Amino acid sequence: MKESIQKLTPYVPEKPLATLKSELGLDRLVRLSANENPYGTSPKVALAVKNWDFNQSNRYPDGDATALRQAIATQQQVDPAQLVFSVGLDEMIVMVSRTFLAPGDQVLVSAPTFSEYGLHAEIEGARLVSVPTLANDHVDFQALAQKLTPAVKMVWLCNPNNPTGTVETLVDLEAFVQQVPAETMVLIDEAYLDFVPNAAAVSALQLPRRYPNVVVMRTFSKAYGLANFRVGYAVFSKRYAPIMQSVRLPYNLNSLTQVAALAAVQDQAFVHQTVAKNAAERDNWQQFFQAQGIQADESAANFIFFHYPQADQLADYLLHHGYSLRTGLRPDWLRLTIGTAADGAQLRALIKAYAE
Ligand SMILES: *Cc1c(COP(=O)(O)O)cnc(C)c1O
Repeated sequence: MKESIQKLTPYVPEKPLATLKSELGLDRLVRLSANENPYGTSPKVALAVKNWDFNQSNRYPDGDATALRQAIATQQQVDPAQLVFSVGLDEMIVMVSRTFLAPGDQVLVSAPTFSEYGLHAEIEGARLVSVPTLANDHVDFQALAQKLTPAVKMVWLCNPNNPTGTVETLVDLEAFVQQVPAETMVLIDEAYLDFVPNAAAVSALQLPRRYPNVVVMRTFSKAYGLANFRVGYAVFSKRYAPIMQSVRLPYNLNSLTQVAALAAVQDQAFVHQTVAKNAAERDNWQQFFQAQGIQADESAANFIFFHYPQADQLADYLLHHGYSLRTGLRPDWLRLTIGTAADGAQLRALIKAYAE
């Protein structure tokens, strides 16, 4: 066994909701710990899945995901050849780590951020170098740039960042990219970009065209409500896309996934509704935290990161009242997925009651 694997602390996935619910003896449990879409999935996806020809089950899927590729290329104004698909962005994180890292390399992140970047760096025998965020939890680009050495092979930038929800401007991102050596990869994870006000102006999707070492990633798991189907993609420069295609398993996306994602792309009304409802409820939460004197990061995503003394006790209280929040990301901070307006009102009443 690889030495790096022997010392690994595993990623703990969410328990199935039904299991947790019966363990707690609850009638209703709302998971607000995984940043899932609380409004479900587009009904057009359900229709497309139902209409899928089951007689194709014995055939391998389209390894190029041709229809989905074309639809996304048109939507995002990138060349179809720049797109690489993965089984959720999780798999893309594995693929790029596997491709660009060797034992002894360094991976640079702004911390706190998504733990899988570090996990897969470790599996490849690379070392994670973390630069703390600024006081307002934005990226400290200056400190990050100071850590750039020839040993650093990858820099992860999650924008908006999980778990802080903070978003960096495209101007700042590009200014940072210009300081990174051409042989160091910059991976921009835009899993939550759809939720950002004026998202198109913030997205880095066009950067790989001008900076071959930049990669931009998207997923269908969040705003598109397709977490169960496991589909994500990345936009690479023409230099790296063919390399990634040779690392990718040839049939990683099954046909049902391709059909579901295509229908989801074609129903932008569903995404717009999700984004609008999330923005309204995000405002309610930010106002609530301000009124309660609770320190919270300014979020551009579908979750909010907030400080609470003995946060784990609050999380436990809320869990026993039917709401699960994400703990363990920073001492005395919790990450709350923004849910429906009804759940938000109930949860805010619970937090108020707990404080009294
Ligand atoms: C949820 C999430 C992903 C990946 O989700 P998939 O379901 O694997 O597509 C990637 N990056 C961040 C920051 C996330 O929060």
